[in-house]
Amino acid sequence: MIKDLSCSIHVKKNIVNELNTNKVSGTYILYGNDKNRLFEIALAFGKSLNCEVLKNDFCGQCESCIRMEKGTHGDLELVVGENGIKIESIRNLIYRASTSAYEGKNKIFILKDIENMRIPASNALLKTLEESQKGNFFFLLTTSLNILSTIKSRSTIIKISEMKREELGVSLEEYEFFNRKAMEILEYKKQNFNIESPVDYFNIGKFMKVYFIDKNLENKINIYKSLRYFVNNLKWSSKIDILYFIDEIVMNLSEKNFLNEILEYVASLNSPNLNLENILKAKNRLRIPINIKALLIKIFIKKNI
Ligand SMILES: [Zn+2]
Repeated sequence: MIKDLSCSIHVKKNIVNELNTNKVSGTYILYGNDKNRLFEIALAFGKSLNCEVLKNDFCGQCESCIRMEKGTHGDLELVVGENGIKIESIRNLIYRASTSAYEGKNKIFILKDIENMRIPASNALLKTLEESQKGNFFFLLTTSLNILSTIKSRSTIIKISEMKREELGVSLEEYEFFNRKAMEILEYKKQNFNIESPVDYFNIGKFMKVYFIDKNLENKINIYKSLRYFVNNLKWSSKIDILYFIDEIVMNLSEKNFLNEILEYVASLNSPNLNLENILKAKNRLRIPINIKALLIKIFIKKNI
């Protein structure tokens, strides 16, 4: 149910209010820095709009809710693109948006990483939103509001603000270790993982490899730790060691999107060993095809030359 979502009371109220307006179609921009949570909330909207038991909320147990959760619901369409959604994906979406719902209720379209979408795809999406028919609900997930203003003006923007440390009940160290990501923090609390014990940061490639397979938070914690120790020791590291570390990341980066998370995490460390502006610039460049190794060298080495 909505009351059980891992987000602040303010956001929950916002969701409930939106659902209670009983719109017949809609476009929402869910905006915040915790991508997993944006998705969780979009899915909660989707479940609530299709739940067989509850109105304007979701039970989590009916056939529709279960299939939404598993991603197998006939009227749930997930649109993703590693470096921004492609125009071909939008064309598929246009087709799906023009057909009627398989299961008779609402069609839910969740589009991830809207901030990386290029202009032609954005324009095609805008057209789809303008011509959208009854029963279509679009959820555009983004970490930045730097998107086409005409899309913004057509959407209800909901800011998914961070959950406060007090709401999560963790120490400042824990809160910052996870870069304030509520879902990871809640999972960490449940599993009682160790965030203190050191790891050999040269193993970052191995940690990434395993994480991409099992998506286990424990491996993500090892990646965080590796980045943290590496950055903290950057001043004393030789260029050869730094290049080795960079190579490990580049060679094991089977999910390109993950680089964005790495840069975000490195920026959150706020280390005097790094130039924050360089990292933010690098993050912006991820929208276009780039040489990742050169990008990381710029962040980790250039500053020390
Ligand atoms: Zn349900």
